[in-house]
Amino acid sequence: MNIELPPLLHGLAPDHLADIVGGMGQPGYRAKQLAEWMYRHHAMDWGTMSNLPGTLLTSLAERFDPCGLTLQERQCSQDGTRKYLFELRDGQSIESVMIPMEQHATFCVSSQVGCAMACSFCATARGGLVRQLSRGEIVEQVQLLALDLMADPVEELGDRAFNVVFMGMGEPLDNVDEVAGALKILTHTDGLAMSPRRITISTSGHAEGLRAFLDLRLPVGLTVSVNTTDPDKRKRLMPIPGRTPLSESLDLAEMHARRIRRTVTVAYVVIDGWNDHPDEATALATLVARRPFKVNLIPMNRIDDRFGPPSADALLIFQKVLADHDVRATIRISGGDDIDAACGQLRRRRTS
Ligand code: SF4
Repeated sequence: MNIELPPLLHGLAPDHLADIVGGMGQPGYRAKQLAEWMYRHHAMDWGTMSNLPGTLLTSLAERFDPCGLTLQERQCSQDGTRKYLFELRDGQSIESVMIPMEQHATFCVSSQVGCAMACSFCATARGGLVRQLSRGEIVEQVQLLALDLMADPVEELGDRAFNVVFMGMGEPLDNVDEVAGALKILTHTDGLAMSPRRITISTSGHAEGLRAFLDLRLPVGLTVSVNTTDPDKRKRLMPIPGRTPLSESLDLAEMHARRIRRTVTVAYVVIDGWNDHPDEATALATLVARRPFKVNLIPMNRIDDRFGPPSADALLIFQKVLADHDVRATIRISGGDDIDAACGQLRRRRTS
């Protein structure tokens, strides 16, 4: 049985609040006050909005839910990575991750429950797509992590600034409308007022999603997951994104990079004995050289016996081959080795 749930308060764009509050017979300044509670103070219940009149709060409570995510589990790694499992109002669950960087924290958020892309190295793919997340559910992940960072600061971080990457569960460009709605709230001056430069969309690169994303002309960063340049291997590894020729995905990504004057990241999950041969590095270099791209090499985070991390030597040789072709490549040191830090692992363990 499908139960219709009220929309989430934090899915409302700040420029809609005046109409909503006005329609409830309240003066315009109440919308500004409400926006401050919602997006400056990250208020998650009606009781904290202390300067709003009871009549307004009652009217709002009749139409909206103030919070749609409940923390089910929080894991902290020795390296400072934190992983969160949230329960949604319909009983589904999603994961978010906080990764402390040198100057800021990176919040890695989910855009879907499950994923339809069927990538064979990914724990999230195992159950297929369950449903899309709403913009409110996406924004709330950011806010709940921000609250957690405020309540329990990471000592080494100079401030509490954070970046957001759409690199959790799901393919964000398979849920473009809700992701775009969430981006509007995250970047609006009366919303979370984030600079678009602090936000990155990470995609597996299917052309349809990339075209829809380009049409929106959003000035946020983009990461395209490549993982192998061999079309047949790519179809086996990433069945749905693999249907789009890689050159087409990269042409679209390059168009975005030139439009927003920002380098696109090519993500390459390096898998032991599968895509870590120097010839693969040469093929990758040929494809990305002379484009406004940089490469991020990500050692595979083991989820089963099939795919494992490469040796340190193989990884360094791969990076050197790219450098020899004038391709900038960094190696991402995966955080949270002592917790379920690979995308979808925590949810999978909980549900199995
Ligand atoms: S790697 Fe990303 S796109 Fe592929 S199945 Fe997992 S969540 Fe989906």
